Amino acid sequence: MNSVNYGKGCSVQLHSSNKPAIELVQEKVAEMELQHREDAFFLADLGDIAKKYEKWTELLPRVEPFYAVKCNQDHAVLKLLAQLGTGFDCASKDEIARVLKLGVSPSRIVFANPCKQKSFIRYAAKSDVDLMTFDNEAELYKIKVAFPTARLVLRILPPANFKVQCELGNKFGCHPHEARSLLAKAQELDLNVVGISFHVGSGVAEAEAFSAAVKTAAGVFDTGAKMGFNFDLLDIGGGFPGHADAPITFEEIATVLNESLNKYFPPKRNVRIIAEPGRFFVASAFSLCVNVIAKRTVCIGSPEDDGEEKDVKDKGAFMYYVNDGVYGSFNCLLYDHAEAPVNPMEFRCSVWGPTCDGLDQILKDIKLPELSVGDYLNFPDMGAYTVCAGSTFNGMPRPDCFYHCSETIWNRLYPDRPKGQEASSPITKSLPIMKAGHQLEKVDIDLLPA
Ligand code: PLP
Repeated sequence: MNSVNYGKGCSVQLHSSNKPAIELVQEKVAEMELQHREDAFFLADLGDIAKKYEKWTELLPRVEPFYAVKCNQDHAVLKLLAQLGTGFDCASKDEIARVLKLGVSPSRIVFANPCKQKSFIRYAAKSDVDLMTFDNEAELYKIKVAFPTARLVLRILPPANFKVQCELGNKFGCHPHEARSLLAKAQELDLNVVGISFHVGSGVAEAEAFSAAVKTAAGVFDTGAKMGFNFDLLDIGGGFPGHADAPITFEEIATVLNESLNKYFPPKRNVRIIAEPGRFFVASAFSLCVNVIAKRTVCIGSPEDDGEEKDVKDKGAFMYYVNDGVYGSFNCLLYDHAEAPVNPMEFRCSVWGPTCDGLDQILKDIKLPELSVGDYLNFPDMGAYTVCAGSTFNGMPRPDCFYHCSETIWNRLYPDRPKGQEASSPITKSLPIMKAGHQLEKVDIDLLPA
């Protein structure tokens, strides 16, 4: 295997294209064991992100993706997406600065936060990031002072009767009925409104959420046209699924979305269409390995005993303590309303994070094979809304991230790359690890020489 330097102290291991993900996890776990390390770590497959980009351009060719940095601001992720040519949705000064530092043109950024701190608007003005969203009158006054030549996008509230993982309409988006008065205020202030945006909610479960929102946006385009605006931008936000077990596939959404875009915004209308996908690009690319650092056997009483039954329900027969939790990467259980579903196996148990807080529970009343202290558990699909919001509460370290990519994909991305250094020889130790998360199974295969 080769490794290549990808900046900021990050190196990417290149491997043969058909290597199963679980083998890569096992190799890394074996390497950690050999080094007597027990830290939690992420494995990030940059090739997975590149494949997502290909899928996007193939299935939604009319829609330019502006990656939502908030979802995972990892340096290698941003650098790769910049190389692939996506735009970026930034929510703050810091996110804009990160993206600009990569050499991305300000024209590839949308400042997609409808309620911005004044100093951030001034920073956007200074940096020539002129495309930004708004959904209220106070924002127009701030923009009038700080960046009067900005190109504004009115964020509207999409129809809300669809299932989503994270609702956003409770906080942002003006009701379509309010659009006329907000547009009139923009006109009065001589501000330049160039289009309409919406976000159907993160982790949408029904494709019709998009078609209904596109229809609503088309109605607001008409309102704007009657008032003398000539909108030429539609921003369809995020909400696209990022992993194989999501309730709906990207393909299903793309079919419905293309149909409604072609109906309401046919190419001859010359409206530029952009989107702000976050989890779509990163969810499946990251898997998290945590180490069982402690274990407790719970005393089970008779089933008639209410108190003890409850104890078993909450804790299981075994309590495992692992070295990342709700205050770290599993913050997604709280903030992203995520779940870590598992298939029933042998022993009822619970899995807890490393902090001293009882809230720090990752899995409650699930069944796992019996684990020992020192075993690793692997959680797939941990790329979205995990790394970005984790803390070091109780002094617990954040996991390192190790990057890898199929050599074929890497060579396509960087055809002129200088030859990488040789990595250390692969480890071929047999190792049992448990794979938790969406599919819990005992994996116990020999590692193959690379
Ligand atoms: N755009 C905005 C304004 C958001 O608030 C979010 C998520 O909160 C996104 C894009 C990304 O959404 P998703 O990860 O569901 O694609």
